[in-house]
Amino acid sequence: MRHNRAVTVPPIHLYDTRRRAVVPFEPVVPGKASIYTCGPTVYGPQHLGNMRSQLLPDLLRRVLRAGGYDVTFVTNVTDVGHLVSDADEGDDKVEAAAAETGQSVEEITGHWTEQWAGDRRRLGMLEPDRVPYASKHVPEQIAMIQTLEAQGRTYVIDDGVYFDVSTYPEYADFAHLNLDDLEATGRVENVSDKRHPADFALWKLSPPDSARLQEWDSPWGRGFPGWHIECSAMATKYLGRHFDIHTGGIDHVRVHHTNEVAQSECALEQHPWVNIWMHNEFLDVGTEKMSKSKGHVLTVQTLVDEGIDPLAFRYFFLQAHYRQQQNFTIDLVRSAGTALRRIVHHAVAARDAVGGDASGADAARTEPLRAAFWEALADDLNGPRALAVVASVARDPELSDADRWSLLADFDQVLGFGLADATDPEAADDSADDPRIAGLLADRTAARADKDWAEADRIRDLLAAEGLEIVDTPDGPQARRR
Ligand code: AMP
Ligand code: ZN
Repeated sequence: MRHNRAVTVPPIHLYDTRRRAVVPFEPVVPGKASIYTCGPTVYGPQHLGNMRSQLLPDLLRRVLRAGGYDVTFVTNVTDVGHLVSDADEGDDKVEAAAAETGQSVEEITGHWTEQWAGDRRRLGMLEPDRVPYASKHVPEQIAMIQTLEAQGRTYVIDDGVYFDVSTYPEYADFAHLNLDDLEATGRVENVSDKRHPADFALWKLSPPDSARLQEWDSPWGRGFPGWHIECSAMATKYLGRHFDIHTGGIDHVRVHHTNEVAQSECALEQHPWVNIWMHNEFLDVGTEKMSKSKGHVLTVQTLVDEGIDPLAFRYFFLQAHYRQQQNFTIDLVRSAGTALRRIVHHAVAARDAVGGDASGADAARTEPLRAAFWEALADDLNGPRALAVVASVARDPELSDADRWSLLADFDQVLGFGLADATDPEAADDSADDPRIAGLLADRTAARADKDWAEADRIRDLLAAEGLEIVDTPDGPQARRR
């Protein structure tokens, strides 16, 4: 693809939670960028809120890559150690799901890991360079705990090995915690024998009289690693003792990331362990965050079932800055899909008019727009500002086809809409005039109105078998060739 590109991405600035400021991205190793993101706990579905926390690093990777960095992206799978409560209490989430469903650990973790990986692909995310599993890195976690033990920063009580926060005076700095008032701020409840409410489990011991589905031998007895230590051990193994960027959802600042920083900076004797910490705000439903425990199991499949292209959610994600809370409704994502289809329509028309060759673009017209797009993204990933440029480029009558394609093909490195291969989503389709298909669509609409999901799904699958996909349009659902 030829972009006829003159502007380069300006210096990238990102908001660092630790310093509470937008800071320049200055890589540990010149020319490279290393990113770690806390991945899914695979005991149940990853909802669209969880996917927001994966779309942030996808956007970040793409911007850094466009900026010329050689990016390594690692995101883990938590298949052991994440307790039902962040306060070191309750059972392991995967273990609890196995007890509830009667399925094996492998069935549960395999199924939900595949759901997550498949939905990442449906949302057009780049594949991670590595996806380490917590259960496959137990020796690395034990080694890190042993280092902390040798430093005198741990103690053992009945249910496990704990990190003693009093040995690390900077513990509260990362999240600006008030350690004297943790209970009042609701940060942690107390495991009765802990010396301080903020102390956290590094290794949990299995009860003496029962075997767990996942447990390992350790110097302290049979048991399993705590959730926080897994990210420290795996990030360090794959990205080194000092790396560039760590991301996760905003809820991780006060507990999970505070604990990761404490144990890593101590064990590695490295400050800072990570240069920049980035956190996405929540995707909300009404007045509360989207969450499994509140029963919001809205996934990529929910969108597909509504006839919405999953890439509409990519567009929707860019419509809010990642540090703002974003309100989710199906209608908002549907509108994002409509806006996306307009853009794809204009991009495909321009691309096909110039046979994919943008060399005829007029730099005087394109470069200010190109600069505006990349400046927005280099400014702490300002998606809404970048999208405004995209929307105006798509329809600006002053731009030639070569101008338009030169810009949109370039922008698609970050947008990830697949413009180079897209077909025009607004092109007339013969199936639109087929009375049999129109009848099936009407039956499906009626079935949905009756909440007869089985019948609606049957019709969707019937059309899918004919290579047709149901797309919502302002004129109602239509069947389009894939
Ligand atoms: P979990 O599978 O619960 O460990 O969550 C995976 C990731 O999703 C974490 O980084 C969470 O902070 C993030 N997350 C959970 N709920 C939401 C939400 N409603 N909006 C955005 N991110 C979320
Ligand atoms: Zn983590």
